[in-house]
Amino acid sequence: MHIPVTYTKHPKEHPDESHLGFGQHFTDHMFLLNYSPAQGWHNPRIVPYGPLELDPATMTLHYAQEIFEGLKAYRGVDGKIRLFRAIENVRRLNRSNERLCVPRMNEDDVLEALVKLVNLETDWIPSNPDTTLYIRPFLIATDPFLGVRPSDTYLFIIILSPVGAYYPNGMSPTSMLVEDEDVRAVRGGLGFAKTGANYAATIRAQDKAKHKGFTQVLWLDALEQKYVEEIGTSNAFFKISGTVVTPPLNGSILPGITRMSVLELLRYWHAPVEERPVTITEIIDTARQRRLEESFASGTAAVISPIGSLTYKDETIQINQGEIGALAQKLYDTLTGIQYGKLPDPFGWTTII
Ligand SMILES: *Cc1c(COP(=O)(O)O)cnc(C)c1O
Repeated sequence: MHIPVTYTKHPKEHPDESHLGFGQHFTDHMFLLNYSPAQGWHNPRIVPYGPLELDPATMTLHYAQEIFEGLKAYRGVDGKIRLFRAIENVRRLNRSNERLCVPRMNEDDVLEALVKLVNLETDWIPSNPDTTLYIRPFLIATDPFLGVRPSDTYLFIIILSPVGAYYPNGMSPTSMLVEDEDVRAVRGGLGFAKTGANYAATIRAQDKAKHKGFTQVLWLDALEQKYVEEIGTSNAFFKISGTVVTPPLNGSILPGITRMSVLELLRYWHAPVEERPVTITEIIDTARQRRLEESFASGTAAVISPIGSLTYKDETIQINQGEIGALAQKLYDTLTGIQYGKLPDPFGWTTII
């Protein structure tokens, strides 16, 4: 695929690496690709980062036909730039596309575009410990039309954002409020697709939890409000009597690439692991019986996030005395070790670009 580049005439000043935060700074360029029924996906190009001009009737603004992905480029301890399982993000993008009636994309082309953009912006990849360049591919339905149907045209975009360490002061356990009113997704809905529409449903509960002093929300299933689904925008894990349990991919759970990597690592270590439905009652009961040894969430942003406490209907349970669990720490060290080239990568998960 030939990708012409229009270079910016106004390169931005780079932000201070010690105060990057998340998703606040953007690099000098972005990748664009259009879709039309006659031409398919066409006109790949890299252009200066900047605002989009959109007709107010642009379909995505009204009916949320939108997909996104999230992954990172890591500047390794050896100075090399690595991507982590990027092909999995591209495959998931196509699975989301299928659910939202967006035409399939060529997976090699998307990867190529991503690599080319990151390579063009390598001086934006921060080098302080645990900083990364966050990669946000996304696409929007662009027909200017107020009827409800799949759009005929789309715009696919990749933007890049240098982000700070998720735990600037070291990994620390979080407090979770189990949400028993709002739900995130229902089987048959969009839960397994990475789309903004899922997030719109979560904002209210998240806001409520924040105001009550919790870090995040633990989501229960939409039908019975009984089974654990996800933790915030991450996948949920519990270590109960030595066995690691995570909810199965039932359609309403986002199939995290970090989740998949955690499961593969645990199996590689011959650790007992089960993908099975887990009720909030089981979690509370096993915590009371001191059989709930650890809980953590997994996702690209934090990698592994240990859970220190869970609050469900006015009862708060402490997990591992509110301390980081040994398994959460080992998983975090192993995954980040592979991502930053500090540890060997026996699985071939990383690509040096
Ligand atoms: C992206 C996401 C995750 C985590 O997926 P990763 O591929 O591990 O980053 C989990 N849940 C939701 C709702 C998500 O959007």
